[in-house]
Amino acid sequence: MKTEVAYLEESGIDDRYESHDSIEVGEVELAEPGVNEVHVDVKACGICHSDWHVASGDNEVEHYPCALGHEGAGVVQETGDAVEHVEPGDHVALAWMPACGKCEFCASGRQELCHRGEGMLQGPQMHGDYNMHMDDGTEVSQYAYLGCFAEDVVVHKDSVVPVPKEVDLSIAALTGCGAATGFGSAQNRADIEPGDTVVQFGLGGLGASAVMSADYQGADRIVVVDPLESKREMAAEFGATHTVNPDEESPAEFVESLTDGRMADSAIFTGSVALPEEIGEAYATVRKGGELVTVSSSPLDADRIDLPVETGGLFNFTMSEMEVKGSLYGGWAPNYAIPRLLEMYQQENLPLDKLVTQTYSLNEINEGYSDMLEGKNIRGVVEFD
Ligand SMILES: [Zn+2]
Ligand SMILES: [Zn+2]
Repeated sequence: MKTEVAYLEESGIDDRYESHDSIEVGEVELAEPGVNEVHVDVKACGICHSDWHVASGDNEVEHYPCALGHEGAGVVQETGDAVEHVEPGDHVALAWMPACGKCEFCASGRQELCHRGEGMLQGPQMHGDYNMHMDDGTEVSQYAYLGCFAEDVVVHKDSVVPVPKEVDLSIAALTGCGAATGFGSAQNRADIEPGDTVVQFGLGGLGASAVMSADYQGADRIVVVDPLESKREMAAEFGATHTVNPDEESPAEFVESLTDGRMADSAIFTGSVALPEEIGEAYATVRKGGELVTVSSSPLDADRIDLPVETGGLFNFTMSEMEVKGSLYGGWAPNYAIPRLLEMYQQENLPLDKLVTQTYSLNEINEGYSDMLEGKNIRGVVEFD
């Protein structure tokens, strides 16, 4: 069948902060679901920064054209052989890490690090072939095995996680990436305890989810650092207690005065692009024995983390038992995170609906990414009829 999809013709435009309408929308031929595959009628897909990292050249896939989109949800249309956990009509979120459940990482409870992730940006689907083709036969890769800025996708069964039918699929979509990554980064990677002071750098979909998570875990003071006034104005809605404009005030100095010199127990970085100096700015807010969790994608050629000399540089890193941790998908498994977050949402303990600030049609996708780059949205979502 034919389906409309948003894709990139070629690798990045090399301008990470500007939109150049570089995402195309057009028809592709979609394969029938084969063994272990599921055809999903996509209803919503979140506008996450990670797709833009491919458009901007900060990240690359190995095959173009590449269908973008990795934060989707929809309705199962058809299942291939050997698919048992879903059937046509089921509502599902799409997980960009199709964890195998068998490798040593999966077996030890770290599905986000599954070996399958290594093939995710290489081009073909896991069966070694492509499920999307242009009219002239050109193979189209699916970003993160999903490419779900599309009316329909055919994906591996391990990318498909059932969700309750009562939940709006735009909300369910966010648990496929941003909400789970942000919430989990604070819950699983930052070790927040009641009474803690947490500094959150960046208030997009991930950052807002991390703030909600820090609040949920009992942090007393949650400081949001964001240069955009519109974001700082929204911060309290998610549970932030203080905000800082880093263009006007040093986050470290603010935290120093807030905590009588003790500094923050942890900082979480979800800014647009994780550059060495920005990571350093976040590191400078953390106390002895504290930790910095970095969540954002860095440029492929970034090769260091700045440890500012004002905070004792590398010497202090060792002597103060500092920690700097990475975080992928919030350090938990899609099959656990997605139903758990949606259960919290249904019990009115986690207002995921507040994350969705603007919706777009597929044809408006470049506008959606422009709005993201200009900081207009916490999360924009492409919705399909
Ligand atoms: Zn994402
Ligand atoms: Zn695995």
